[in-house]
Amino acid sequence: MRDFDTVVIGAGPGGYHVASALAAAGEHVAVVERDRPGGTCLNCGCIPTKCLAASADALRVCRRAGDFGVRCQVDGFDYAASRRRMLDVVGTLRDGVASLLRGVTYISSEASLVPGLQVSLSDGEALRASRRIVIATGSRPAPLRVPGGERAIDSTAALALESLPQRAVIIGGGVIGMELASIWHTMGVEVTVLEYCREILPGIDADVAKRLRMTLSRAGISIVTGAEVTAVDADGTVRYAAAKGGGAACGDTVVAAGGRRPVLPAGYDGCGIATDSRGFIRVDSHMRTTADGIYAIGDVNGLSLLAHSAEAQARTVVYDDPACFNAGAVPAVIFTHPEVAQVGVVPAGAEVMTVKRMFGANGKALAMGQGEGFVKLTCDRADGAVLSAVIMGPHASDLVAEATILVSGKVPYHEIGRRYIHAHPTLSEIFL
Ligand code: FAD
Repeated sequence: MRDFDTVVIGAGPGGYHVASALAAAGEHVAVVERDRPGGTCLNCGCIPTKCLAASADALRVCRRAGDFGVRCQVDGFDYAASRRRMLDVVGTLRDGVASLLRGVTYISSEASLVPGLQVSLSDGEALRASRRIVIATGSRPAPLRVPGGERAIDSTAALALESLPQRAVIIGGGVIGMELASIWHTMGVEVTVLEYCREILPGIDADVAKRLRMTLSRAGISIVTGAEVTAVDADGTVRYAAAKGGGAACGDTVVAAGGRRPVLPAGYDGCGIATDSRGFIRVDSHMRTTADGIYAIGDVNGLSLLAHSAEAQARTVVYDDPACFNAGAVPAVIFTHPEVAQVGVVPAGAEVMTVKRMFGANGKALAMGQGEGFVKLTCDRADGAVLSAVIMGPHASDLVAEATILVSGKVPYHEIGRRYIHAHPTLSEIFL
């Protein structure tokens, strides 16, 4: 039996942040990881997809070089080289995680929970925590439960492909599905997206989701909404039912991108840890589970399946401060082309007004040749406080940081232009 103050299960963004911060505060901390450090985000999520998105961006810029007076010709796209670059970036960041965990006892093993604040490892060794156990075991892709569903690959397998498909059917038009569709389409793959809901990107502002669907459809991605997939045939034909009769889409690769399920460590139920109706671990605002001394952060509690939410929840545990995770101001970012970002929640029944500004009137956006898209702020009608923001357009993923501060600080929209100087010419001037 080895003794620690805190034992963390999982070394993804939630786990490595909580472990390194507690160790920096002087605690004796162990982190147990059964796979590679960095979790889903680093190994098969945020970072690999953003590396491929960067390759797609580079390709797009080269194809449009003539618009900027640059004479060059694109004679092909080397997917293997773009994958090598992706693996290099992931490797560099994995070293960064390892150095962040200096001062933490890192254990490569599968962990199970044992009553009495103990963790058992695959080799039978036991760890005991005197202060707390933090479960940060993340999530995994939801299986596609239709006949032939096992023929579809998940997002992890899609990112591990060594060559691009020629024709792909992506089942699920949520964030993961739409990012992959946008990247692969730019790289030359013929892509069909089948989405069960009436619009892509459930949870994102309907106005923006519709515009993005129209933009991507115009660019050549085939998007079918209201499509309930019923079967995947051996030849890659995906059959679906729809209000107007349904149909079929064919691909040499079928990707299931229809949601995520929690990964629960063995023994959780024996320790008295309750789950919600979707199977995620129930937590209070301090990230405490229903078992004394056991916390759950990140995807596994289902509050927000985003890396920065996992990190914010890690801070909630470290500082024992619920204010570190403000669920009403979590930015969500979608790395399609164009990018989309959203932050804030409008309370039901609130009296609101919207303020919209177009990138077409922004000098920097026009200089960059990216004048499409807009920012829409939804504000309290009485005092003008910004309640939510949605952005579609160039660098939306970076611009949303300002919107997050506006929403968190309930800044009245009319004060933005009056009190806060924005450099010129910049995309951020759109907030003025
Ligand atoms: P994870 O990162 O999943 O880490 C959990 C770790 O726990 C894993 O390493 C796992 O091996 C380990 N583990 C599980 N069970 C055990 C056990 N019993 N014993 C030991 N170890 C265990 N989020 C963003 O914010 N931005 C993005 O751009 C983005 N893009 C994404 C793209 C894709 C394709 C996917 C799939 C996800 C993306 N996400 C993105 C979501 C993001 O990856 C997750 O929200 C984030 O990784 C959650 O962090 P976590 O620490 O909760 O769990």
